[in-house]
Amino acid sequence: MRALNIAILSGKGGTGKTTVATNLAEILQANYIDCDVEEPNGYIFLKPENIMNVAVEVECPDINMEKCILCGECTKTCQFNALFNTKKDILVFEKMCHSCKACSIVCKTKAITFKPRKVGVIEKGEKQGLICMRGVLDIGEAMAVPVIKKLLRHTPVGLNLLDCSPGTSCNAVSTLRHAQGALLVTEPSAFGLHDLRMAICLVRKFDLPFGVIINKWDEKNGEFLERYLDGEGIKILGYIPYKREAAEVYSRGEMVRTIPAYQQAFDRIASSCGEVFQWN
Ligand code: SF4
Ligand code: SF4
Repeated sequence: MRALNIAILSGKGGTGKTTVATNLAEILQANYIDCDVEEPNGYIFLKPENIMNVAVEVECPDINMEKCILCGECTKTCQFNALFNTKKDILVFEKMCHSCKACSIVCKTKAITFKPRKVGVIEKGEKQGLICMRGVLDIGEAMAVPVIKKLLRHTPVGLNLLDCSPGTSCNAVSTLRHAQGALLVTEPSAFGLHDLRMAICLVRKFDLPFGVIINKWDEKNGEFLERYLDGEGIKILGYIPYKREAAEVYSRGEMVRTIPAYQQAFDRIASSCGEVFQWN
């Protein structure tokens, strides 16, 4: 048995991506992997147990000033402005370093070596036999990609739902590189449609099979979204209703599928997903 990774993404934050990912994980009996490492909140709802964690480290330049001749070649080479030549010293701005090691290649005196720097952790727990994993970026760290890469290096066998970062930035791209399909979550609003278009563009670049789930569904105002998806030939996998009761359940850290109308909606989505991704 191999890993089948389905990414759940949204063009914008607040569309209900984590709600979809956590509820579907339970219904589909899928492993849940939270790749939204800047704000990994899926554990609030799934409440996994027996959590173990391992640090994520990146490599950062360590400059030996006894060997350094202050030639400035490394500072000119760094594309990320992570090095600065004060003429007395070479300053390293560690949080701007992308660990590309170009600086050490151009250093003729071999003054640059690398040391590990912790930027986050990977947590792994379980919930009723299913694996729950998440990456957690340390507070104040700017680069989420190394944490996402380590999180997805060895995904569990079976069906995995990858809860992406919101938007279409390099964080979402890093997750999609490991996916074999995608679920796009949107909402019937002008902003929702604008950002959905970007997400569609992204998954098409990866040539992934995908479908759309419309959250906060409102029949009166949602027709424009259905028309757009129909025109693009994109399958709507289901609709999730918009009820105050769901917001109350969510704010208590509970699963919205405890509400019968939501359970029905997620059951329909789960069965449509099976058709699109053919995992049954
Ligand atoms: S490893 Fe790359 S990003 Fe980091 S300081 Fe060196 S050149 Fe800059
Ligand atoms: S390239 Fe090497 S020798 Fe030149 S400034 Fe950088 S660390 Fe110093």
